[in-house]
Amino acid sequence: MSKGTKIPGYMQGKGRNPRGIIGDREIRYKCSLQNTILDVLRGRPGWQEVPGQNNVQQNVQANTKQQGQQSTGQPPSNTGKAGSGTTTTQGTTFGNKASFQSIPPITRNSDGDWDFYWCDREWLHQNYDTMFLYEHQKILHFRNHYELTRKNLMVKNLKRLKKQTEREQGKAEGLSFEFFPTTYELPSEYHIFVEEFKKNPGIIWIMKPAARAQGRGIFLFRRLKDITDWKKGEYQPLSDPNRDAPETYVVQRYIENPYLIGGRKFDVRVYVLVVSYNPLKVWLYRSGFARFSNTRFSLDSIEDTYVHLTNVAIQKNAPDYDPDKGCKWSTQQLRKYLSAKHGVDAVRKAYKGIDNIIIKSLQSVQKIIINDKHCFEMYGYDILFDSDLKPWLIEINASPSLTASGKEDYELKFGLLNDLLNVLDLENRLTGKEKRIGGWDLLWEDGPILADDGNMECVPNGNTTTIPNSFLGCHNDRKRQLRELYMAAQSVKKT
Ligand code: ADP
Repeated sequence: MSKGTKIPGYMQGKGRNPRGIIGDREIRYKCSLQNTILDVLRGRPGWQEVPGQNNVQQNVQANTKQQGQQSTGQPPSNTGKAGSGTTTTQGTTFGNKASFQSIPPITRNSDGDWDFYWCDREWLHQNYDTMFLYEHQKILHFRNHYELTRKNLMVKNLKRLKKQTEREQGKAEGLSFEFFPTTYELPSEYHIFVEEFKKNPGIIWIMKPAARAQGRGIFLFRRLKDITDWKKGEYQPLSDPNRDAPETYVVQRYIENPYLIGGRKFDVRVYVLVVSYNPLKVWLYRSGFARFSNTRFSLDSIEDTYVHLTNVAIQKNAPDYDPDKGCKWSTQQLRKYLSAKHGVDAVRKAYKGIDNIIIKSLQSVQKIIINDKHCFEMYGYDILFDSDLKPWLIEINASPSLTASGKEDYELKFGLLNDLLNVLDLENRLTGKEKRIGGWDLLWEDGPILADDGNMECVPNGNTTTIPNSFLGCHNDRKRQLRELYMAAQSVKKT
């Protein structure tokens, strides 16, 4: 999209576009990625790129000087870092234009001079603790997002909430957590794993490095011997005292009966946006994709990663991979296929399971994640259906790939990211009460959100019961929706 292209509903005239806290100036952004997100930011009217490297020390110094404080390198006590989500800067409240204007103007295009930063996780880790953020600034990632996105920690947190739920609400309620395969952390839980292994002879397990991605380092096994050999290599102490500590792995029960289409296994990438952990506010994107393996599924060849791992990074190296054919379906195609095969109701039930996975997993870290109103996170959930159409949580990514593998993929990601910016609404064009913004549907705000009457997509004809505001794989007429939304918001704001 070129710089001049109009985003539907975007009012560019100064007088017609109340910009809220940022006022009438452009929105300044930084971006550490060179892919679709950068295209989206560059194509967004009224947004301007801040060039140069990040230098948080300058940011701290510049800002603390403006605050009339000494530069200690420590975050000021009122940065709203831990848990509050309502903290203010110098007593200002978000949305209060006048108080923002009392902050002295920042020199344009200097380091740290940004309103919006799509940063990478490493940058955030290195800089967050010494960073000062103004009221209006927005930054990708929560400080300790890894509590959910490291395979071992995700399971640990889920197990803890499951136990707590069983204790407080009974065993039956604990069953709603039966969506992640039995998992142990290695080496710390090796002995418990061996006990479990012996109880279930013959089943297949999958071994995964806790902090790696794209299928790297993963293998399947059936015999304990396979893992003792591996364990020797990985975990036996060597004579070298400087040897690194052994890498943490998870060993997980392998789902042996995946749902197959055309004989092939697939998993589904679902995009979830968290704009606050306290209260928990979650959006679910309608579009995503299913990633298929290139080779027919079989349990005969468990060493064949092209059969068992659906990562695009793995599949594109398969000898018979056809880049034109690709190995993706849109979530719309998938939902249509499943609905035709099993009926709309069965599919709605299965997809309700996905909503449950999203909410329970986020609740499992709700008290641990350092909530900060400046932060947001766009997660990529990997969901696998088994042959009973039961969804299983495989993993959650805090940096889902935004590099497009083709035209359709580009359009999906471009719309996804543009709509994410629409939800964050730095331009202050919306009312804050919206339940749908482009392709994002508000799934949860301190409790479940129900769909409005008339929003009955993917529901059997004539069904008038209330349904959750969740439309994964339903029609995504985002441009039209945005046009109508902005017109409605504008008239509400006028009155
Ligand atoms: P990575 O972060 O390396 O992508 P994942 O946990 O997502 O690791 O696993 C990679 C792929 O392996 C998944 O996309 C899925 O196809 C397959 N997989 C992972 N865990 C399981 C499991 N428990 N049962 C069946 N397949 C699995």
